[in-house]
Amino acid sequence: MNAMAASTETLLNEEQASRIVVLLVDDQAMVAEGIRRMLVDEEMEFHYCSDPKAAIQTAQDIGATTILQDLVMPNVDGLTLVRFYRNHPVTRNIPVIVLSSKDDPKIKSDAFNNGATDYLVKLPDKVELVARIQAHSRSFMAQLERDAAFVELHNMQKQLEEANTQLQQRNAELDRLSTMDGLTGIANRRHFDEVLAREWYRAGRGKIKLSLIMIDIDFFKLYNDNYGHQGGDDCLKQVSAALQKAMCRSGDLVARYGGEEFAVILPNTPEEGVMGIAEKLCARIRELKIKHEFSKVSDIVTISVGVATMVAAPGRAAELLIAAADHALYEAKEEGRNQVCQAAAHS
Ligand code: GH3
Ligand code: MG
Ligand code: MG
Repeated sequence: MNAMAASTETLLNEEQASRIVVLLVDDQAMVAEGIRRMLVDEEMEFHYCSDPKAAIQTAQDIGATTILQDLVMPNVDGLTLVRFYRNHPVTRNIPVIVLSSKDDPKIKSDAFNNGATDYLVKLPDKVELVARIQAHSRSFMAQLERDAAFVELHNMQKQLEEANTQLQQRNAELDRLSTMDGLTGIANRRHFDEVLAREWYRAGRGKIKLSLIMIDIDFFKLYNDNYGHQGGDDCLKQVSAALQKAMCRSGDLVARYGGEEFAVILPNTPEEGVMGIAEKLCARIRELKIKHEFSKVSDIVTISVGVATMVAAPGRAAELLIAAADHALYEAKEEGRNQVCQAAAHS
């Protein structure tokens, strides 16, 4: 739709929205003709319906802004109809002016009690009828506009909330991705550094020991050189998945520390248990039975492991723990690889 067509449509809609549409429900054609004449020169549409059963459908079809309702009709009482309008979703809020042949306060009171908006004696004065139709129609149309604006506001709020939820989900996903190693899917070096700093600080406050395991694949350069880079990548994925699977405590963190090096932070494990865990990791990698004909220590992929445990103290940096575990790993390499070495105890 082009801009011109769109603006024409908007104008039409606005015109329709502000147009007064009157529906007279009366069995007497004479009355209808009398009212029609009164309204013919006014800026309003006039519709007439002699069958009360068709009143609600007609009101909906024409978009009535005011209903003029005859009080005495054959087979149905006008007030029953007014009550019916009030209970029907189409006509619930449309103003209803009751037209009665009697100027009786009791009947007027009944009419208002049954939901009539106004009451006029037939045939009413033209000026008064027009003024009342205009007043009731305008307040009805203003209410419709308020309702529409409210619905629009509500929809906008909902859209905003949905956009916000999506943004939060995307941010959470970005957070997750920024902590993850792209090749292996386990924690990356950045996340390792953050967790170690946090755990080191916590251990320092509680004066408890923190353990770190450093892992390095044996003769991995030879693996890469002979099985290709893709083969090396597959091996790294298998090893990291096995390490991750072997750690079952939620507080433990398995991370890719560097190329073919991994690190495990064990915040809640007693010192005695750490060697056992390190041995288990070694065994799990051997159980993978990844063929490595070029390893000088075995015919399958193996790892060397260094373990260190330390009390975090004020002024003592977490790098000390890393250096101790690294040193133990170096010893494991020196001792012949495919084994675990533990750093000398630090108080
Ligand atoms: P050592 O037993 O003493 O640990 O010997 P090594 O050959 O395992 O150690 P070195 O440090 O000499 O070689 C590590 C190799 O790991 C070198 C590099 O090609 C490989 N590597 C590092 N990162 C990746 C990676 O992301 N993918 C692959 N395929 N290979 C990698
Ligand atoms: Mg290495
Ligand atoms: Mg290596």
